[in-house]
Amino acid sequence: MLSVSDSLRLDCMKNITIVGTVLFLVITSSISGQDPVKQPQVTILTTGGTIASRSEAPSLEGHALIQAVPQLLNYATVNVEEIARTGSSRITPEIWLLIGKRINEIFASDPNLSGIVVTHGTDTMEETAYYLNLVVKDDRPVVLVGSMRSADIISADGPSNLLQAVRVATTQHSKNRGVMIVLNDEINSARDAWKTDNQRVQTFSAMDRGILGYADPDTVIFYRNPSQLHTVHSIFELDGIESLPEVPIAIDYPGFDGSTIFQWIKRNPAGIVVQTFAGGRMSSGAADGIRAAVAGNIPVVIASRVPGGRIPGTPSIEGTVLARDLPAHKARVLLMVALTDPSNKETLTTIFNKY
Ligand code: ASP
Repeated sequence: MLSVSDSLRLDCMKNITIVGTVLFLVITSSISGQDPVKQPQVTILTTGGTIASRSEAPSLEGHALIQAVPQLLNYATVNVEEIARTGSSRITPEIWLLIGKRINEIFASDPNLSGIVVTHGTDTMEETAYYLNLVVKDDRPVVLVGSMRSADIISADGPSNLLQAVRVATTQHSKNRGVMIVLNDEINSARDAWKTDNQRVQTFSAMDRGILGYADPDTVIFYRNPSQLHTVHSIFELDGIESLPEVPIAIDYPGFDGSTIFQWIKRNPAGIVVQTFAGGRMSSGAADGIRAAVAGNIPVVIASRVPGGRIPGTPSIEGTVLARDLPAHKARVLLMVALTDPSNKETLTTIFNKY
């Protein structure tokens, strides 16, 4: 019987470039001349993405990525583990599980560690970050970081982003703020951050909820705490979880006949998220499909495709759950995590209001 990490490794060897779980490198402070004993310690888990990519050459290995930013040593002693080396469009729930378990393991084994930084492509960073926000069992900072420009082009933003992420991970008052995303000196909550621009370096935004804070040159400053439950306050457990349940997203549009929902029902997924219009309003085809799913005892979460505001009130179709201000792709993450414990099926409305 293969463990999750064994089977993931086999899988990844087939599909993406992945490097064994522990490529361990301690970068000492010899470059900066500082005493490593007095430095905060940070572990950096690398997964790939634009931050590690070069236009004309293969992606940087995890340790090469870190070595390219010797200024890190002014802030921390750094251990590096390469988890994967892939664009984030190829990150899978199996890799979420691997990263989540590894983070919990590292924190449990090292009480002196200040925090953990995860380098990741920006395309699906918000899903990985929100997943970790739900399952990491420690109040120390976990910071996801990436870049919009590859490592070898003019004004690459990766080195600066990585430096700011390490600064956030070593800051005492970063504790108990849930998992964070740091790019462009901005600190966003994993729960609230959306990638909003295909090109620009200021791509992550928390919309109505606003940023958590900034990594400024003189200090890391926080303006608020996340308002939803996270990490040590979360009820969700990773122990004993070997895979995450299947939860697809169906998208509503004018004239939709509900066919993708009916197709999914045949596969009997653990749950379905439907991305509807503003306020959770939907086409009659979507409504027919959703009623059929509910009748088949498949939990259905209704999300809005509109980024501002939330879906208020109660669902128009009895038995469904409102995602409120969570976009469909994050509602899917929460539903997958919640359904790892079948008893949560009865309390999904409460869960979606709290997380
Ligand atoms: N394609 C990249 C990714 O891995 C984009 C990025 O990292 O910004 O998501």
